[in-house]
Amino acid sequence: MSGNEIRLQAINEVTNRGDVPTGSPPKPLSEIWASDVFNLATMEEALSKSAFKAMKKTVQTGAPLDPSTADVVAAAMKDWALGKGVKFFSHIFYPMTNITAEKHDGFIVTNADGNAITEFTGSLLIKGEPDGSSFPNGSLRMTAAARGYTAWDPTSPVYVMNTQNGATLMIPSVFMSWTGEALDKKIPLLRSNAAMDKAAQKVLKLMGETDIAPLNSSCGAEQEYFLIDSHFANSRPDLLLAGRTLFGAPSPKGQEFDDHYFGAIPGRVQVFMQAFEDKLFKLGIPAKTHHNEVAPGQFEIAPYFESANVAADHQQLMMTIMKSTALEHGFVCLLHEKPFAGINGSGKHVNWSIGNATQGNLLDPGNTPHDNLNFLLFCGAVIRGVHLYGPLLRAVIATAGNDHRLGANEAPPAILSVYLGDQLEGVFNDIKDGKVSVSNGGGMMDLGLAQILPFNRDPGDRNRTSPFAFTGNRFEFRAVGSSQSVSGPLVAMNTILADSLEWIAEKLEAELSSGKKQPAAVAAVLQELMQEHGNVIFGGDGYSHEWHVAAVEKHGLKNIPTTADALPVLNDPSVIDLFKRTGVLSPVELESRYEVYAEQYILSIGVEAKLVVELAKTVLYPATMSYVSSLAATLNSASALGVELESTAVKKIANETNAMMSAVSSLEEALVNHHFDSTEAHMKYCAGTLRELMDRTRAHADALETMVADECWPLPKYREMLFIK
Ligand code: ADP
Ligand code: MG
Repeated sequence: MSGNEIRLQAINEVTNRGDVPTGSPPKPLSEIWASDVFNLATMEEALSKSAFKAMKKTVQTGAPLDPSTADVVAAAMKDWALGKGVKFFSHIFYPMTNITAEKHDGFIVTNADGNAITEFTGSLLIKGEPDGSSFPNGSLRMTAAARGYTAWDPTSPVYVMNTQNGATLMIPSVFMSWTGEALDKKIPLLRSNAAMDKAAQKVLKLMGETDIAPLNSSCGAEQEYFLIDSHFANSRPDLLLAGRTLFGAPSPKGQEFDDHYFGAIPGRVQVFMQAFEDKLFKLGIPAKTHHNEVAPGQFEIAPYFESANVAADHQQLMMTIMKSTALEHGFVCLLHEKPFAGINGSGKHVNWSIGNATQGNLLDPGNTPHDNLNFLLFCGAVIRGVHLYGPLLRAVIATAGNDHRLGANEAPPAILSVYLGDQLEGVFNDIKDGKVSVSNGGGMMDLGLAQILPFNRDPGDRNRTSPFAFTGNRFEFRAVGSSQSVSGPLVAMNTILADSLEWIAEKLEAELSSGKKQPAAVAAVLQELMQEHGNVIFGGDGYSHEWHVAAVEKHGLKNIPTTADALPVLNDPSVIDLFKRTGVLSPVELESRYEVYAEQYILSIGVEAKLVVELAKTVLYPATMSYVSSLAATLNSASALGVELESTAVKKIANETNAMMSAVSSLEEALVNHHFDSTEAHMKYCAGTLRELMDRTRAHADALETMVADECWPLPKYREMLFIK
């Protein structure tokens, strides 16, 4: 089949797709909710009272579990899983890629008589040893030293993963090197939570709290994605290999009518969503909101928030299930940040807060003055953290895909500022200017903050242009990429919060020991904090040119446009020290992460560049040349009959083709044999030279798409792919 036939056949298949299947009749939520999860409710039934009590304590507080209890839990887990037809188990872990990894083992062993029996002990539950030499580790392990360990994380529930090919008991785990360094995204997340807990405890004690339960960060991640008919996706090597279209002229109709956003969900998509969400419900993932997004073919799903560790595991699981369920429904689910040029890309808003069972959500202003003081301190801590470590927050969302989105006037700018909303911004500015009258006379407090009592929890207006916005009882990190694991951003947020809370605790203690009462001490600490860090607050239009200038010149913030500029932040001494001080990542672990992420960036651009060359040479060039030659033949035949036809169009196409091929030659040359003095130089080369040559090639190819006869064009067009049928 020639290229254009592949496309025409795809159009044909899609056009002749039968009616939308209605899907299996929905089951009541009570029947399916968490039915495949070995959660506390299941454990209560399956375990002895004492074992259950120990497990509950571990799940709820992270307290260590003794080995004999682990044996009992493993046995109960095995029985539960076998009852569901499961024969294999696997530690599931979260390497430094944005996907998950698993190694399956059978429950089965044979005895001396050759009979199969099942076995699963506490030690098998607790520890696994995948030969992990091929996981990215940033030179932490020499290739020969392949041994890596996985270890059960009892705070994230075990579940049964059903696929078309069977069922497996999945055990969420951490992944470390033989020498004990973190090789995954879960270890730093757990450590960052512990660091934040420790620092928050200090602050709350100074604030006079006596009963303080362990603090946990929470996360609710809104996931945007595209669905494309699989017939189209399968005819686009760029979508399959790079996750985004490397070519494609704009569709005459895109998103300009805003007629997709929150519109009626297409029937086929709704059937997909129901099937997908039922799977999530079975796994105890609280899918809550779904709707059409701005771009045609784009949708969003948001689960209800959970503790950050569980939410991160669930988020990974959700992305896996989205992709596999989409395929069952004849779609390919695109999680890339920018699958289509010229229309909105996809992000993942990470909603994040911190709280515990005794003080509640500390980013909720609450209704009482006392709550407000704690709230102001924790909110202040976030402001300080974003100001000091904005570039770090930029670095943890730096991927080749997200570079297409950030700063593109549809997604937050690549400048990290904080949006508080008018009311709260006013409060913090008053504190900064010392306008807050403080009575030192005891009692709960009199901060003179009448304007925030009672605090309006819903700031009303939303600032969609801010990368980091306060949204009533949490912060929303809006610049995260759609394909990313949420762990990296959560680690960064927890760690900068831990650092700021430590700073606050120290200052607060000094103020209190100088004789001030809490309200006055808080006001003094926050005044200093705001004077040093208030510049990070910005409530205006983050897309505007004025802000891009003012952010850098007046506010002293950094505009970090590409991954090549952002990742080196991980080598910054202040960042190395932050992670070391808080115990979240050792300098060696951090360095390995820099290397892994930089390598992923370089590889991604490399794959795209090679694909641009290949598609241009072997798919687009033959198509345009055969069209040019057929036009030329027509011109010649006409001329032989004495009719002179206008030849400008043919010449234009020929010129455009030549220009495309000349860009391709330059790109090909740019791809061979280069030596770079540093990883940073290599990244810069990708962000500059390679990306520019890819863009140049694309510009000519996209122009050709608008000139070559429709029936000759080999790749499915935007207008075909984007409007779901
Ligand atoms: P919007 O699109 O208006 O921002 P959504 O309802 O789509 O809101 O998503 C909001 C997300 O924020 C949900 O996942 C929700 O569970 C989550 N969320 C709400 N409160 C908190 C909180 N305290 N901590 C973390 N996430 C939260
Ligand atoms: Mg949202």
